[in-house]
Amino acid sequence: MKIGAPKELFEGENRVAMTPDSAIQLIKLGHTCVIETGAGAKAGFSDASYEKAGVEVVPSAAALYDAADVVVKVRGPEADEARLLKSGQTLISFFWPAQNADLLAQIAGQGATAVAMDMVPRISRAQKMDALSSMANIAGYRAVIEAGNNFGRFFTGQVTAAGKVPPAKVLVVGAGVAGLAAIGTATSLGAIVNAFDVRPEVAEQIESMGANFVFLEFDASELPDGAATGGYAAPSSPAFAAKQLAKFRELAPEMDIVITTALIPGRPAPKLWTADMVQMMKPGSVIIDLAAERGGNCDLTVPDQKIVTDNGVTVVGYTDFPSRMAAQSSTLYSNNIRHMLADLTPKKDGVIAHNMEDDVIRGATVTHAGAVTYPPPPPKIA
Ligand code: NAD
Repeated sequence: MKIGAPKELFEGENRVAMTPDSAIQLIKLGHTCVIETGAGAKAGFSDASYEKAGVEVVPSAAALYDAADVVVKVRGPEADEARLLKSGQTLISFFWPAQNADLLAQIAGQGATAVAMDMVPRISRAQKMDALSSMANIAGYRAVIEAGNNFGRFFTGQVTAAGKVPPAKVLVVGAGVAGLAAIGTATSLGAIVNAFDVRPEVAEQIESMGANFVFLEFDASELPDGAATGGYAAPSSPAFAAKQLAKFRELAPEMDIVITTALIPGRPAPKLWTADMVQMMKPGSVIIDLAAERGGNCDLTVPDQKIVTDNGVTVVGYTDFPSRMAAQSSTLYSNNIRHMLADLTPKKDGVIAHNMEDDVIRGATVTHAGAVTYPPPPPKIA
């Protein structure tokens, strides 16, 4: 089959779904590869580097969609792009099917198959295709770099001839994939890192990375059952939320950097860093809100913007951290895609066998054979 990557159309999107290295791996699976001219440029991959890897370069999106049997992308297609999909063609990209019912119906109606990378079940066997995790890892890392760039001081404490410098104090709220990456990055830069999550089972992970788990006294019955929510967080009870906010109010005057990553599937981001907490922070402090796209964990977050409050606190609400590290994120994302294609090509003979009995492929497939196949049944294995 011919695998093709078009240029991303979304304004400010720098990533690309195929790199020269991932193309080499796809060719080993028996596929051929094609790319739209300039598609990798913003991620640092020239047309010449693709050609050297054996990839055909075509001059337009129309030519790409015409040539490819499987189209690989980062962002879900815009309606005009989706219209280019043909019957029998497969699209693999992020998709967010719950928010894109019309697009699903359109693609199913055109007879194309859509595989949503955001729907890959989060089970051990599928970790190599888990693009949500690979992008969250980059976002967590980049959040710390962004914080450092806006914080006018060192992270690490130093004793120098010119004076003694205290280490920065960092609080990470939410210790999922992005939060743990932020904790690892901030500790490696020498900051004193504190972290909190509503899932008590992550305390050990936080501590093993050299950070302090912010301990909250509560009755276990106030917590939702983690197993029942598939390892994701559920909304906190009002009593628990009040205790959490009281704890954060205690911490706010001391923290130099706050990185918030708290999300609950299918809901707006919980408000955890309130306007009065921002008011209590020292001038020069920085908040990086990785939940900005879902409304933000901080009351003052403006999605896609950086603001500075009257009391001198910088609040960053960028929603494109992975795209800001496009070479790295394209490399990992294209590997996730390549692994998905490896599972779709079990005989390594360049022939796609779309096995809807396979939990991972079934879970990620949102349209197939002219029908919308979202939502999938729950996976049979963990
Ligand atoms: P996420 O992005 O949905 O949420 C980020 C974090 O915010 C979570 O840790 C969540 O517990 C936390 N949170 C929610 N409400 C909060 C609150 N009020 N205060 C503080 N923290 C709050 O999470 P994610 O990074 O996508 O990971 C979700 C789960 O999936 C985790 O259990 C993770 O270990 C699991 N996971 C499993 C696999 C796998 O097995 N392949 C891969 C990735 C993630």
